[in-house]
Amino acid sequence: GGLTGGIGRRVDAAVAGVSEALFEPVIRLGVTGLSRAGKTVFITSLVANLLDRGRMPQFSAAGRIEAAFLQPQPDDTLPRFDYEAHLGALTGATPHWPASTRAISELRLSLRVQPSGFLGGLIGGLTGPRTVHLDIIDYPGEWLLDLSLLGKTYAEWSELTLERIAHRTQAAEFMAIARAEDGGLRLEEPRAQVLAVAFTAYLQAARGAGWSDCTPGRFLLPGDLAGSPVLTFAPLPKPGSVPRGSLYREMDRRFAAYKSLVIKPFFRDHFARIDRQVVLMDVLGAIHAGPMALEDMRRTMAEILGAFRPGQNGFISSILMGRRVDKILFAATKADHLHHSQHPKLTAITQALLREARDRAAFAGAETQAMSLAALRATVEEVREHGGETLDVVRGTLLDTGKQAAMFAGLLPDDPNHLIGPARKGEAAWLDSDYTVMNFAPARLTLRPGDGPPHIRLDRAAEFLLADRLG
Ligand code: GDP
Repeated sequence: GGLTGGIGRRVDAAVAGVSEALFEPVIRLGVTGLSRAGKTVFITSLVANLLDRGRMPQFSAAGRIEAAFLQPQPDDTLPRFDYEAHLGALTGATPHWPASTRAISELRLSLRVQPSGFLGGLIGGLTGPRTVHLDIIDYPGEWLLDLSLLGKTYAEWSELTLERIAHRTQAAEFMAIARAEDGGLRLEEPRAQVLAVAFTAYLQAARGAGWSDCTPGRFLLPGDLAGSPVLTFAPLPKPGSVPRGSLYREMDRRFAAYKSLVIKPFFRDHFARIDRQVVLMDVLGAIHAGPMALEDMRRTMAEILGAFRPGQNGFISSILMGRRVDKILFAATKADHLHHSQHPKLTAITQALLREARDRAAFAGAETQAMSLAALRATVEEVREHGGETLDVVRGTLLDTGKQAAMFAGLLPDDPNHLIGPARKGEAAWLDSDYTVMNFAPARLTLRPGDGPPHIRLDRAAEFLLADRLG
């Protein structure tokens, strides 16, 4: 596309007719984050709040949006983001959390916007409101991590991975199998499968324990590739010789196939077309899991951000062809687990986690921002007396029992460096043990007059990501 600044850079002439495309810019908003970061809830809430505006006081374009409606998406072969089912889960009679992101999906929300400003008034007077399409692309952050595999051979990847996981308890079983295996022997498919199954089980356990660096991403979220040869490999120690037809040789070939048939197409067909990006992070979950998990999240975020720094990666540069993501929002999710007095600290920790990653993105010219938010507030705030102290707590309905419970998650430190950095690695967990026990159900939407919006800072997220394109 080639329209000027505020009107938007991307037009999808292949989808719309040429004249329509000229006047109907498209914003392709990528939403990613590791699994359980909150992508599904974020997209569902963002769309619900854009469809039914009035709960987004900090979103400056809201007043100019005359109408918002869901439309058929432009990409016919991508699964559609199941908005209605997710909204149904969150807002039904017994609200529950929707099924999480398993693969890529897309949703088109079209906005009829009254142009702003003098020029806008002029154009608006001539043409009336214009339509801006918001195409939301939901995809697992695990897939972005795969970018780091492109630059590695199977031998390099195997060596690095085995070294990194050798002492993780979750990897004990896989390591035993891998060590006992002789990759120089002739390939027997059942043995390859045993290795892949054990490696996948390790990845799942590692994710569950709070480790972020769990590649290859499709092993965790295989979609329709489950069971295919391209996902039936695992890291192996290099044998003395690697004859033709050996297990190691075949694993090497499958690793190469994973790169060319899984990783590259995703980046070329989907990632390369994104304009704006949200990276959601369960920072509270990592803080609770402990220092190692937090350090791992820091490293992983730096790696994820590598994808947004085209100069660094020849493959990415070649598929972007000069395009780039120009805004990236990093959001610590589930902030409703903390009293708002602690939100600035959570944001500061998120910023500290991203320092290195942000420097890189800034280098590539993208504008970045960090914030703490809750796409759907499941709690209300209260002040409680406890043992002569006053505590700022949050109260919500427990998912399993349906009972009300108040939680004081603990105090985050004023200085994020108390959590992040080599000095803190030896410690156990920081947040109160109640933190994970307290699994709150999504709150019924009562919206009595005087109630705050049913989210925390979702409107600010929309402001950063969208407002300038809706002017
Ligand atoms: P995804 O894997 O990134 O799609 O993650 P989901 O959107 O499915 O969120 C994972 C889980 O995090 C949900 O099932 C909720 O338990 C929790 N969660 C997500 N967003 C919020 C939020 O705004 N507030 C609270 N309290 N919990 C949330």
